[in-house]
Amino acid sequence: MYTGSYMLDGLQENISLKNYSTMRLGGVARYLVEVQDYHDIQRIVEWADSQSLPVVMIGQGSNIIWKDEGYPGVVIVNRVPGYELQDQGEQQFVIVGAGESWDEVVERTVASGLSGLECLSLIPGTVGATPVQNVGAYGKEVADCLVCVQAYDRVEKRMVVIPKSDCGFSYRNSRFKGDDHGRFFITSVTFSLTIRKPMPPFYASLQAYFGKHSISSSDITAQVVRDAVIAIRTEKLPDPKVVANAGSFFHNPIISTYQLDEIKEKYPGIVYWSVGDDEAKISAGWLLEQLGLKGYHEPNTGMAIWDKQALVFVNEKATSTAQLIAFRDAVMKEVKARFGIDLVQEPQLLP
Ligand SMILES: Cc1cc2nc3c(=O)[nH]c(=O)nc-3n(C[C@H](O)[C@H](O)[C@H](O)COP(=O)(O)OP(=O)(O)OC[C@H]3O[C@@H](n4cnc5c(N)ncnc54)[C@H](O)[C@@H]3O)c2cc1C
Repeated sequence: MYTGSYMLDGLQENISLKNYSTMRLGGVARYLVEVQDYHDIQRIVEWADSQSLPVVMIGQGSNIIWKDEGYPGVVIVNRVPGYELQDQGEQQFVIVGAGESWDEVVERTVASGLSGLECLSLIPGTVGATPVQNVGAYGKEVADCLVCVQAYDRVEKRMVVIPKSDCGFSYRNSRFKGDDHGRFFITSVTFSLTIRKPMPPFYASLQAYFGKHSISSSDITAQVVRDAVIAIRTEKLPDPKVVANAGSFFHNPIISTYQLDEIKEKYPGIVYWSVGDDEAKISAGWLLEQLGLKGYHEPNTGMAIWDKQALVFVNEKATSTAQLIAFRDAVMKEVKARFGIDLVQEPQLLP
């Protein structure tokens, strides 16, 4: 139960949200608090409910855009620590606190000789956010290794364990990002990893890297894959600590093969991946490149597109989320006009 002043420890008022989004935009949170464990979460939620305030949980803000209006309730920043390895022989379970830095956890598992997370190296953010958008890269997604998440359920008002089969995972999505956003506050995630070496086939750009560096299949370990992923990512993606951005700004759109064939007639070089027999996933970055937007600097909004990866929007001089949205809308309009495709934004606009 809510215990008054103890609960209010650490609760800050009127905090700029610019420091809680790697895009560095947004208004002010009425309240903000960092939490270390489930008891903190429960107390804050009870207090917020007693005040009829909305609550949102975040990690490092690398996949959110705050509105200029700010947040009218309590922003909970997840700092729940923890790392526990359960040795089951060839298979190993790792139970990790949601507030841990994702890449530090990947580094730790790889250093322990475990395989499973290495393709997801260098993705910014916390462990607890990875199931939310089912983070993915280089042909792998977090759902591939996830066993279950432990979370505080705001509806049931208790801790729950949600197995992978109930997480509603799909491409860059889950129930935590969709219908149940705001219901579950994830406190830890359990992964199943293996001591076996990663096996081919590898994602095309990884395979190309191995070829270029004369790395043969028998030399490939989780550490080799991690090193390759870090090298490739560092080459083409901006470091959010230095350059304000939120990674890929759009999902790769999935269209019908019929629509693909129509586009191909005009643009035979279109970059896509088949999804089953009837659909194809189009490279959104390729679409933006065709519009000449790679490396584009927009003077009116202060937004830009990264010169080494057209899918990454960069906040160079924007001072408001309204400017970012104006830029986004203009880009989406151009893509629609040229290719007939509706792009879908990846980072969540909050609240
Ligand atoms: C340079 C760059 C590269 C990126 N590359 C990739 C990539 O390759 N693949 C990819 O998938 N993503 C990528 N991203 C996006 C981002 O890093 C991931 O989505 C990451 O998991 C977000 O973690 P976070 O802690 O910053 O979450 P936040 O941005 O703080 O939150 C994201 C969402 O998760 C919710 N949330 C956060 N923590 C919890 C919790 N404990 N419980 C419940 N809900 C929670 C928030 O409410 C919000 O809806 C990239 C971003 C950047 C800036």
